[in-house]
Amino acid sequence: MSAAPITGRCYCGATTIHAAQAPQTVAYCHCDDCRRVTGAPVAAFAAFAEGDVTVAPAGATVRANPGVARTFCPACGSPLTGRYDYLPGQVFVSLGLLDQAADLAPQLHAHAGTALPWLHITDDLPRVEASSRDTLGEAADTGE
Ligand SMILES: [Zn+2]
Ligand SMILES: [Zn+2]
Repeated sequence: MSAAPITGRCYCGATTIHAAQAPQTVAYCHCDDCRRVTGAPVAAFAAFAEGDVTVAPAGATVRANPGVARTFCPACGSPLTGRYDYLPGQVFVSLGLLDQAADLAPQLHAHAGTALPWLHITDDLPRVEASSRDTLGEAADTGE
């Protein structure tokens, strides 16, 4: 895991990201929501403790599904963060925005059961068929 601080920015540069601490976990997500949010065949996120990461400006919040709040850069539309009611205290930042992404290898595949059939990622990471809420919640609990 990369040493803090972690920095990043959106596509246009209007939004900057700064994290004082390393993420608690890094994960791929193969769910349909994340595909639409990112426009990519698979999304990847770094999960930070709420107080550890600053996104400035905070961006435009979209609540398209119950219990989920996502933010986007108002200028360029880059997906910035996701917050889930069932994972309180965690902020999921789009991994591709981070300057240290090369050092932040994902640790698991969430929603592997809905991965696109032609997408083949050959790693030995744990595959969580549906939500990875238990795994991600554990990371929050232990602070790892
Ligand atoms: Zn932007
Ligand atoms: Zn997802």
